[in-house]
Amino acid sequence: MTDLAELIGVLDAAYPPKLAESWDSVGLVCGDPAQQVSKVLFAVDATAAVVDEAIAWGAQALVVHHPLLLRGVDSVAADTPKGALLHRLIRADCALFSAHTNADSADPGVSDALAAAVGLTVTGPLDPKPVASMDKWVVQVPQTHTAALMSALFAAGAGALGDYREAAWYTAGTGQFLPVDGANPAIGAIGTVETVTEDAVEVVAAPSARRAVLAALRAAHPYEEPAYHVTECAPLPSSLGIGRIGELAEPETLREFTERVGNGLPRTVWGVRAAGDPDRVIERVAVCGGAGDSYLGAAIRAGVDAYLTSDLRHHPVDEHLRRGGPALVDAAHWATEFPWCAQAESVVTRALPGLTTRVSTLRTDPWTVTG
Ligand SMILES: [Zn+2]
Repeated sequence: MTDLAELIGVLDAAYPPKLAESWDSVGLVCGDPAQQVSKVLFAVDATAAVVDEAIAWGAQALVVHHPLLLRGVDSVAADTPKGALLHRLIRADCALFSAHTNADSADPGVSDALAAAVGLTVTGPLDPKPVASMDKWVVQVPQTHTAALMSALFAAGAGALGDYREAAWYTAGTGQFLPVDGANPAIGAIGTVETVTEDAVEVVAAPSARRAVLAALRAAHPYEEPAYHVTECAPLPSSLGIGRIGELAEPETLREFTERVGNGLPRTVWGVRAAGDPDRVIERVAVCGGAGDSYLGAAIRAGVDAYLTSDLRHHPVDEHLRRGGPALVDAAHWATEFPWCAQAESVVTRALPGLTTRVSTLRTDPWTVTG
């Protein structure tokens, strides 16, 4: 047994909520963080059948990819389709948690699982998310106060670099100033040019800590008018972001690649279809789990041979091919995201081996018949 808060902590560490798109709604939908959890079910969608499975199996938590409540909600009355599910989950003491676009952008994330399922070796994101930019603070301080100033900056949140704390760089120099009427100098006298041996202390800090760092700087610095400046560091590319680019071990035709995708993903009624010359040679491939038509341009810019995603439509596909873009492979939305369930399950079982977990094998792809 572990508590739900601990499970949420593990999922949030793997799929940080801050990576979610601004329009998204991720995290705990229902459930008490203090409740005990022993069984966790993973699925793409919280459909009625998946909720049935979670309750029948005795799960205390259902972890899904798609948020049950994405838009504003005024009611979860039990006579609404989604309200009914929430009532049933709450009565059964089963929490509902979703990791959506945060799981898309995380490393590893949804598209890593998709790429692995179809035999691609990932080389990077399709649409990289820049890492959060940092502030670089430079403060000139008399050497007598260097240690005290650094302690105050660290206490305000500066100096954290990955798993390192109290990171700083400082170098000695000479500061000069002329106090004029009205000044109350800590060192020197009105009307006399003063030179002081000072350190220039450099630290990084998150932009969100700017107010706290400035207050700490002013409180710890002996001068009436401390000299300092703050620079916003340029954002850098990262391994985070939507979609992935990957490579096949051996080139193959689009026909073969489409078959590979069909074999690598769970079967759906519609199956997998491709647009483009069936004999086109495919080696580098972009993938995007879920509806990826907004990244068609990114796939062209990436210069890949094929782009695997879902929910593609006639006109965007037709125009994309006229522009000479990569071949397009369209699978069921659910099928492209299903491989993520096993990834999320392994994230949880690695961190919390005492839990019993399982991935729902229910096919929540809404399409049921072909003609
Ligand atoms: Zn999706």
